[in-house]
Amino acid sequence: EFAEISLKDIDQLASNSFPLCMRHLFEKLREDHHLRHGGRMQLGLFLKGVGLKLDDALAFWKMEFSQKVGTERFDKEYAYTIRHNYGKEGKRTDYTPYSCHKIISSTPGVGDHHGCPYRHFSEENLRAALGKIGVGSRALDDVMDKVRNRHYQLACTLTFEAIHAASCDTGINHPNHYFSESQKILK
Ligand code: SF4
Repeated sequence: EFAEISLKDIDQLASNSFPLCMRHLFEKLREDHHLRHGGRMQLGLFLKGVGLKLDDALAFWKMEFSQKVGTERFDKEYAYTIRHNYGKEGKRTDYTPYSCHKIISSTPGVGDHHGCPYRHFSEENLRAALGKIGVGSRALDDVMDKVRNRHYQLACTLTFEAIHAASCDTGINHPNHYFSESQKILK
């Protein structure tokens, strides 16, 4: 159902079509060359869902993590989980990307970057993050209004509409849905 994506396009896709939750993880990974378990799962399964193939996924995570922990430790400690997420290790379960509901109900701790920014960011950080991705001040007030009423997915839908200048009648209930709706508009 999803097209294949290539590693060379990933930065462009992240800034054009990733929802805020995934964009945040992506940027933190690029910045810190590391993500804790919850973030690796949330972003890793999303990337699988948008069509990043296993070999590209391994290359992508290795490129970042090896800068922090070295290639040997990456191969030993982290490559397994990535193959596991693609159903190549352990029970060979094909793990499904997380839904908004699952992400919103997660409980990120200090130092974690997973979760839903609409639910888990402070108001100040959320405003700054939305401003950075180009949400204008009027749309931003509407988004913050939804957040105050705990309608996080509606806040995400309004963000989508503001930055794509297009309506999203289906609403957002899954990060991979956000991505495919965005690609439909931009392609
Ligand atoms: Fe991600 Fe869903 Fe939150 Fe949007 S509403 S940021 S897609 S978890």
